[in-house]
Amino acid sequence: MSQLIKNSDITKDEENIITPILPTYARADITFERGDGVYLYDINDQKYLDFGSGIGVCNLGHNHPALVKALCNQASKLWHTSNLYNIKGQEELALKLVEATFADSMFFTNSGAEAMECAIKMTRKYHYDKGQPDRQRIITFEGCFHGRTLGTIAAAGTEKLTKGFGTMLEGFDILPFYNDMAKVEKSITEHTAAILIEPIQGEGGIRPVSKENLKILRELADQHNILLIFDEVQCGMGRTGHLFAYQASNVMPDILASAKGIGGGFPLGVCMANEKVSHAMTAGTHGSTYGGNPLAMAAGNAVIGVMLEEGFLDHVLKMSEVLKFELLRLRKEYPTIIDVVRGSGLMLGLKLHIDPALFFNQAREYKILLIPASDRTIRLLPPLIISKQDIKTAMQALSKTCCYLMKNMPAEKDGEE
Ligand SMILES: *Cc1c(COP(=O)(O)O)cnc(C)c1O
Repeated sequence: MSQLIKNSDITKDEENIITPILPTYARADITFERGDGVYLYDINDQKYLDFGSGIGVCNLGHNHPALVKALCNQASKLWHTSNLYNIKGQEELALKLVEATFADSMFFTNSGAEAMECAIKMTRKYHYDKGQPDRQRIITFEGCFHGRTLGTIAAAGTEKLTKGFGTMLEGFDILPFYNDMAKVEKSITEHTAAILIEPIQGEGGIRPVSKENLKILRELADQHNILLIFDEVQCGMGRTGHLFAYQASNVMPDILASAKGIGGGFPLGVCMANEKVSHAMTAGTHGSTYGGNPLAMAAGNAVIGVMLEEGFLDHVLKMSEVLKFELLRLRKEYPTIIDVVRGSGLMLGLKLHIDPALFFNQAREYKILLIPASDRTIRLLPPLIISKQDIKTAMQALSKTCCYLMKNMPAEKDGEE
């Protein structure tokens, strides 16, 4: 059994320790017991301001009364029936999403990676049905993250995700991050099926794609009869102050995957498509035992119900302005710590001059929870219900963090990732 965790990175002493949970995460040593709005409380009743939302999931904060009520009501009625029968909640949620977005049809999943898998399968099937089975390749971009299944790690292609996992799914052409549109055009061949992009990279370090480039990608897709897929697993569901990030531009995808915020903490994802692509998925072509079950749908319908209430998304934009302004001020005060402030809505990132893990750990000492990302970035993904007062509290903690790091940091080593 000790073979299971045998790894050249692990020292001799640790080699024989086997834990009941596979140690795939380097976890902070905190256990939370309850949540209330934007706050989490640990087992010692220490209170933390949650600016991570469980990685952009609890977009309505913790213990939201509408969500608790919807889930408790459903829990006492019916949990699960399988997709062998109609599920009323699915039709309800799908109709709301059809009305609010580009989509004409959709498939509910339990996670973001599953939504992306559905997007990849749908893309291939679409071209297959058109008599072009060789159009299977999907263009993706460095720094992207689409999940941890074999298909989605192949889409990202980094060694960090793929090393040790053997033969990867064929068919991804990974290009440098977004700004070289001429390169994208050159990379489209008769085998290209789609372009897949996150309108704002999350794990990659809160790196937004400009509206102009999204528009060019749409035009390229149209010219070459290929599909445009948006991964809005992280930037969707109100995060940017729009229900979906693409809605800030006039650029519509053919397929969009979302998850994270859509269930407010209940495992739920969705793969949405326009009419022409939806025709590819007929009875028997795809499935999920749990996907879109009555409990998940109760959560999903409650989340979107709150988000579509008058003023909800405006609040996100307002709080975004306040927070961004304060973060820019913080950067001015600590230019040796913070390099760039970027992102939109309440999906904001601080590109740092230092290792984001140091920032993340120190901030936690001051009772604010953040999330590190690639490209030396620390992510701020607060619940969308934050108030000005919460932002004030956050800024005090972030200020202290910067101050501490400035006093205690070794000299900056530039150019090091
Ligand atoms: C988190 C994430 C995923 C994967 O979602 P899971 O629910 O963890 O499978 C895919 N794409 C993006 C952009 C994400 O942020």
